[in-house]
Amino acid sequence: TDIKELLLSRIRDVADYPEPGVMFKDITPLLADPAAFTALTDALAEIAENAGATKIVGLEARGFILGAPVAVRAGLGFIPVRKAGKLPGATLGQAYDLEYGSAEIEVHAEDLVTGDRVLIVDDVLATGGTAEASVQLIRRAGAEVAGLAVLMELGFLGGRTRLEPALSGAPLEAL
Ligand code: IMP
Repeated sequence: TDIKELLLSRIRDVADYPEPGVMFKDITPLLADPAAFTALTDALAEIAENAGATKIVGLEARGFILGAPVAVRAGLGFIPVRKAGKLPGATLGQAYDLEYGSAEIEVHAEDLVTGDRVLIVDDVLATGGTAEASVQLIRRAGAEVAGLAVLMELGFLGGRTRLEPALSGAPLEAL
């Protein structure tokens, strides 16, 4: 479709970043293009509305850049899920495995309540580890996951297959 071509044309491939052998998808050209950034924001806001979301969760750091304008456009609150140690209030945390070692994400516990329906927003779905941990975190906070929306899915890394059980029927949309 037209929007898919527009978005793809504004994503830059950077070879051997952040380490040799990795082809990094750089979204900064898209952010710098108002037509593309607006089209992306509108498409993500439509996904939020179709999913019946009541809140937007953005995953640090590029999920903040994408999720915040989506929240404003859809008329919903925005909640940051951050790397451990960055949020000042009382947090809930979720650890997850990386290729080497592990990581932890956190959310302010009071930002999510029973009855919330959360759309998770991020730029790139790779192995799905970050998204899977965020689904678990949101559920543990008492909220429901309305769906996961990303700009781009790296299909060869198998994130969708990994996430499907965790999402238990909630949609995974990749633009
Ligand atoms: P995963 O946990 O392996 O799915 O990795 C997803 C996280 O890493 C997301 O928060 C992305 O922002 C980031 N990420 C992984 N690969 C890329 C990439 O090629 N471009 C931009 N971000 C990426």
